[in-house]
Amino acid sequence: MADDQQQGRLEKVIQLRDQFYKRSKEVDQSGDFPHENFADLKNAGYLSWTVPKQYGGLGLNLYEYLQLQEELAKGDGATALSVGWHLGSVLELAENHSWEEAIFRDLCQRVVHEQALINRTATEKGTGSPTRGGIPETQASLQGGHWIINGRKAFASMAEALDYSLVTARIEQTDRIGIFLVDHNQEGVKVDPTWNSASMRGTRSDDLIFQNVSVSSEHFVEEEGQRVGPPAPKGWLLHIPACYLGIASAACRYAVDFASMYQPNSLPGPIKEVPEVQRKIGEMELALFQSREILYSVANRWVQQPDHRADMGAELAAVKHIATNQAVHVVDLAMKIVGARSLSRDCPLERYYRDVRSGLHNPPMDDAVIKMFAAKSLQGSQPTVTS
Ligand SMILES: Cc1cc2nc3c(=O)[nH]c(=O)nc-3n(C[C@H](O)[C@H](O)[C@H](O)COP(=O)(O)OP(=O)(O)OC[C@H]3O[C@@H](n4cnc5c(N)ncnc54)[C@H](O)[C@@H]3O)c2cc1C
Repeated sequence: MADDQQQGRLEKVIQLRDQFYKRSKEVDQSGDFPHENFADLKNAGYLSWTVPKQYGGLGLNLYEYLQLQEELAKGDGATALSVGWHLGSVLELAENHSWEEAIFRDLCQRVVHEQALINRTATEKGTGSPTRGGIPETQASLQGGHWIINGRKAFASMAEALDYSLVTARIEQTDRIGIFLVDHNQEGVKVDPTWNSASMRGTRSDDLIFQNVSVSSEHFVEEEGQRVGPPAPKGWLLHIPACYLGIASAACRYAVDFASMYQPNSLPGPIKEVPEVQRKIGEMELALFQSREILYSVANRWVQQPDHRADMGAELAAVKHIATNQAVHVVDLAMKIVGARSLSRDCPLERYYRDVRSGLHNPPMDDAVIKMFAAKSLQGSQPTVTS
C-alpha cells in the first residue's frame, strides 16, 4: 500500500501528466524539444527523485520510479522516455556504486541543486545499437593528463537540453571502451539536428558531436567490462516498457471513452454495446494487465532481492519484449475500435500509433531477446528421449 509520501509524489506526477497531455499534440507536430515540460519537471524537483537520500534526493527505487514513469507517459510519451533516461542513469549509478564516490556525489549535487540533466550517449551510426557489441568509433586519447574526445553519437535523446552526457569512446590504440562524463558547457560539444523521426518526435534524439573535447582524468568514470563481480543486468532500462505501457494505456482509455460516447444512427446505443467492440476492449485490457503484472513483479523482485540481480537479465529482457509488443497491439485495437477517425492528425491515437513503434527499436531488440531465451533453454537441456 502506498504511504503518504508515495501518494503525494503520485499526485504531483498526475498533475504533470495532465499538463503534458495538453501540450503533447503541439510537441509532436512542431517536433521541438518540450522545454516547457522539462521546466515543469525541474520545478517539481523530479530530476533528483532517484538521487540517493544521502545526497539530497528522494532515493526512489526501481519499482517506485517505474510507476511514475508509466503515469507520465500517459500524458506525453516523448517527455517520459526522455526524462526516463536521466532518472534511470542516476538510479543505475546509485545501485552499482561503479564510480568514485566523490565524482558521483558531485554529479548528484548538480542534479539536486540545479536539476542538471544527464543521458547516456552510446549509439553511433557505425555501431548501430550498442547492445549488439559494436565498438564505438568515438575516440579518447590521453594528452597531457586530459582525455581528448572526438566523435559523433546518434540518437542522443534530449541532446540540446543536456548538461552532461556519459559518452562511450574507444581508448586510442586499444580495444578498451571507456565511459566519460562530459560537461556540455565544455568547448567542442555540438548538436547536429538530424532527428526527423515520425515517432517520439519530442525526444529530439539528435546527433551529438564531440570535437577535441577535453575531459579531466577523474571524469573517465568507468571502463566497460572492468566492473568487479558478475556483469550487472540493467534494471533501470525497464523505464522503456513502462513508457510504452503508459502510451498503450492512454490509447485504451481514449478508445473506451470514444466507444461509450459514439452512437451512429444505425445503432440504438453507443458502440460500446456492440459485442465485437466489447471483445476488443477486453483484449486491450487483458494485454495491459499482462504487461503491467510482469513489469511490476519483475521490478519488485529487483528491489526485494538485490542478490539475484545478476541472474535477472532474461527476465528484464522478457518484460521489454512483452510490454512493447503488447503496446503496439493495444494501440492497433484502440484504432480499430475508433475506426477511420483514429487516423486523423487531430486524434491522439495516430500519435500513439507512431510513438509505440519506437519501443521495438529501443534495447534489447526482439530478436536478441528470443536468442537469449533459446540459449537459456538449450543450455539447460539434458536429452531424455532416445530413439
Ligand atoms: C526514440 C529513441 C530514443 C533513443 N535514445 C537513445 C539515447 O538517448 N541514447 C542512446 O545511446 N541511444 C538511444 N536510442 C538508440 C537505440 O537504443 C538504438 O541504439 C537505436 O535505435 C538503433 O537500433 P537499431 O536496432 O535500429 O540499429 P542497428 O543496430 O543498426 O540495427 C538495424 C538492424 O540491423 C540488424 N542488426 C544490426 N546489427 C546486428 C547484429 N549484430 N546481429 C543481428 N542483427 C543485427 C537488425 O536486424 C536491426 O533491426 C534511441 C532510439 C530511439 C528510437
